Amino acid sequence: MSTVEKQLDDLKAEIAAEIPNDISVSDVTYEGPELVIYTRDPKKFAQNGDLIRTLAGKLRKRITVRPDPDVLARPKDAEAQIRAIIPDEAGVSDLDFHADTGEVVIEAQKPGMVIGRHGSTLREITQEIGWTPEVVRTPPIESATVSNVRNFLKQEREERRDILERVGRQIHREELANEQWVRISTLGCCREVGRASFILSTAETRILIDCGDKPGAEDEVPYLQAPEANPLNSIDAVVLTHAHLDHSALIPLLFKYGYDGPIYCTEPTRDMMGLLTLDYLDVAAKEGRTPPYESEMVREALKHTIPLEYGDVTDIAPDVKLTLHNAGHILGSAVSHFHIGDGLYNVAFSGDIHYEDTRLFNGAVNEFPRVETLVMESTYGGRNDYQTDQADSEQRLIEIINETHDRDGKILIPAFAVGRSQEIMLVIEEAMREGKIPEMPVHLDGMIWEATAIHTTYPEYLRDDLRDRIFHDDENPFLSPQFNHIDAGEDERRDVTDGGPAIILSTSGMVTGGPIMSWLEHLGPDPNTTMVFVGYQAQGTLGRRIQSGWDEIPMNGRSGRSDTLALDFNVETVDGFSGHSGRQGLIDFVRTMNPRPEKVLCVHGDESSVQDLSSALYHKFDMRTFAPKNLETFRFR
Ligand SMILES: [Zn+2]
Ligand SMILES: [Zn+2]
Repeated sequence: MSTVEKQLDDLKAEIAAEIPNDISVSDVTYEGPELVIYTRDPKKFAQNGDLIRTLAGKLRKRITVRPDPDVLARPKDAEAQIRAIIPDEAGVSDLDFHADTGEVVIEAQKPGMVIGRHGSTLREITQEIGWTPEVVRTPPIESATVSNVRNFLKQEREERRDILERVGRQIHREELANEQWVRISTLGCCREVGRASFILSTAETRILIDCGDKPGAEDEVPYLQAPEANPLNSIDAVVLTHAHLDHSALIPLLFKYGYDGPIYCTEPTRDMMGLLTLDYLDVAAKEGRTPPYESEMVREALKHTIPLEYGDVTDIAPDVKLTLHNAGHILGSAVSHFHIGDGLYNVAFSGDIHYEDTRLFNGAVNEFPRVETLVMESTYGGRNDYQTDQADSEQRLIEIINETHDRDGKILIPAFAVGRSQEIMLVIEEAMREGKIPEMPVHLDGMIWEATAIHTTYPEYLRDDLRDRIFHDDENPFLSPQFNHIDAGEDERRDVTDGGPAIILSTSGMVTGGPIMSWLEHLGPDPNTTMVFVGYQAQGTLGRRIQSGWDEIPMNGRSGRSDTLALDFNVETVDGFSGHSGRQGLIDFVRTMNPRPEKVLCVHGDESSVQDLSSALYHKFDMRTFAPKNLETFRFR
């Protein structure tokens, strides 16, 4: 008998001893980080509201209880009973029964009403029919990504369960190492913005945090050939802080080269990773580059993703617990906290952060039970990188829109599909509603509309007051009539170009490809147009060049030969909308951090930014700080 089998047998005995005699335990297995208990008495389990919580506390594991398949009510009868229990206002749109696990997935417009107070409605459902209900939200704006991902996972359910069982056994294997140490190796993202990739290793475990590309330098990829990452199947787990491509683009590549383990991230990060990596392949193909992997690998990545909610403490290896916290940067972005050993060491990776509240998100979390080392982004860590505060930036954007409208021009805003676009949409929606800018169409080009739909699917990840507005459909700001999704391509763009004043939000955010290239051709030569930069422009990108005053740019003409395009439009930068904290916000994040870390590694910034931030933190807070290079290793214990 393997050690895991033995462990499960012991757990089964322990559980049986712990619960009332009239509740049976027919089987106990691991699925990913969770311990699954099968019982012939799911109703009694459900009646005992505290039983699962007590068990979870006692065994220090996440626990799911499932009915033994042969005690389930027939789906047809169960459906009628479920519909009778759930109030009509919940708007149940779909019920999906999975006999293999005894789960019924309920899709509803108002999941809260399906769950009930403290889960009371869910318990009632189990008590009545035996099935375990799982609730998902019907997206208020239809999202192809969300429905594709959900359908795909539904279709791959069986294989997914095999993966989860395998991962579960890996997580709960017996610890073999008899030494204890903790190291971090940098595989990218040091003294540069892009190709985020780090290895956190202990004597027992290897964890890869992020695996991104470098915008504007496609050939510079993470140092995956470093010994710490080899072979790839020696890595226990991948943790993805958020879906931006400089963190996620090469995650599917791992599966091409032999990785077969789990990816941990939030649910919206999973969906947006799917969206953004598929688009990444598309853009590469359109630009005549050979994509580094096929779309099949994106599906592998989705299949291996284990979504976690903010605040869930989760075993991801015998000696490592992971907790994700809101990072305030984009939808689902997470500060990732690792608790290693039994109180041995704690590391937090900030990922990209915004410390202050924005219209979209609450500010980044910086409270932890313990943390000794922080690996921190430094995008705006330079000594002069103070950002205008958001209210002033909004004022400035409104002025630019009014000035441009007055001369019959168009406002062209390159923006990341995810995050900044929705922030700007909220600013524009409010300004128009309050009459601060005239009514005019707001065209959304590229994946902005799709990304917006994903935001409305996961309102619990948004700032409290925005969440409430989305719950009431008639107040959902993203459904305002001025927003138009450009879905007819070049013809529609030409019509917009020939038409009156308008605001255009288009990807890519750093002008490295995508529909913004078309808009440059249409509007670049127009002196009435204003191009407004609202997000970070990395070195080497066309965005950075235009921002710094280039008035002629190389452009592949329609004839196929390269050509130049003269830019005659106005160029403005309004910097307070960044998804990243400015220098003050980064310093405040560390100043108010509880507890304050002993060591900080400053990464994810230009050379001078990481140096400046590292030295500022050292002088202000008397802590050990570093501005590592790529391929360095730090030992902490
Ligand atoms: Zn980011
Ligand atoms: Zn980033």
